[in-house]
Amino acid sequence: MFLTGKTAIVTGSTSGIGLAYAKALAAEGANVMMNGFGDADEIEAERVALETASGAKAVYSDADMTDPAAIEAMVAHCAEELGTPDIAIANAGVQHVAPIEEFPVEKWDQLIAINLSSAWHLTRLVVGGMKEKGWGRIIYTASAHSMVASPFKSAYNASKFGLGGIAKTVALEAAQDGVTVNCISPGYVWTPLVEKQIPDTMAARGMTRDEVINDVLLAALPTKKFVMPEEIASFALYLCRDEAAQITGANLSMDGGWTAQ
Ligand code: NAD
Repeated sequence: MFLTGKTAIVTGSTSGIGLAYAKALAAEGANVMMNGFGDADEIEAERVALETASGAKAVYSDADMTDPAAIEAMVAHCAEELGTPDIAIANAGVQHVAPIEEFPVEKWDQLIAINLSSAWHLTRLVVGGMKEKGWGRIIYTASAHSMVASPFKSAYNASKFGLGGIAKTVALEAAQDGVTVNCISPGYVWTPLVEKQIPDTMAARGMTRDEVINDVLLAALPTKKFVMPEEIASFALYLCRDEAAQITGANLSMDGGWTAQ
């Protein structure tokens, strides 16, 4: 268990990719602060399962990623309960699909706050402690949509391209402090986030559910397979290894060849 004694904070870890990160980190012995929304009993069951995995501690924060004060409180809570974070994964994310002329302004503001600004806040709050320790790992779940665009996703594309910019900048700022900052950019991963955007995409494109799955989602992936959350978590674990110390400021594709096209 190569992460014993380390503390990780993972935003949006009550579901999907974030939960897979939390499980992988806990299985390697890290204390984990979970975050996100969902059914309280289910979250508590996942929290207990994380602790059972390794004997390390797991704590849950219900901080809303649209609220900078809540993000500050979450990081302070983590420091009190588990120690200052050695690993921070900004993963919370939402999607909204609409043509730009119909895109609700409040949806733009909310999506940018959750997908982009919360990563910036988390980073500004954790990087100092990592620099002091001379070791840290910051990872953003970006997306293939941080490299190429799809129509009707103006806010999502903007947020994910923005994550690449923060990662490169902070990677340079922390390059001599043992802290790496990277994006992992998956193609479509079969999680609730993807499933929930199917109805809007059906409406926006006038397609059936099967057409959206086969002609929009899997059409983008040359492998014709969804990426699995566990594959992404395993990649993140590699970035946490000392052997990955020279990988920084990178936007790392895990997209079945999507952005090779
Ligand atoms: P998901 O819907 O399964 O999980 C999203 C998580 O974010 C949940 O834990 C949810 O509670 C949390 N969240 C949402 N709003 C929040 C808020 N205001 N405050 C705190 N937490 C909040 O989605 P997922 O597919 O696991 O997505 C995780 C990340 O991966 C996102 O950033 C997403 O953009 C990115 N991503 C997903 C895919 C995909 O195909 N699923 C592809 C590329 C990138």
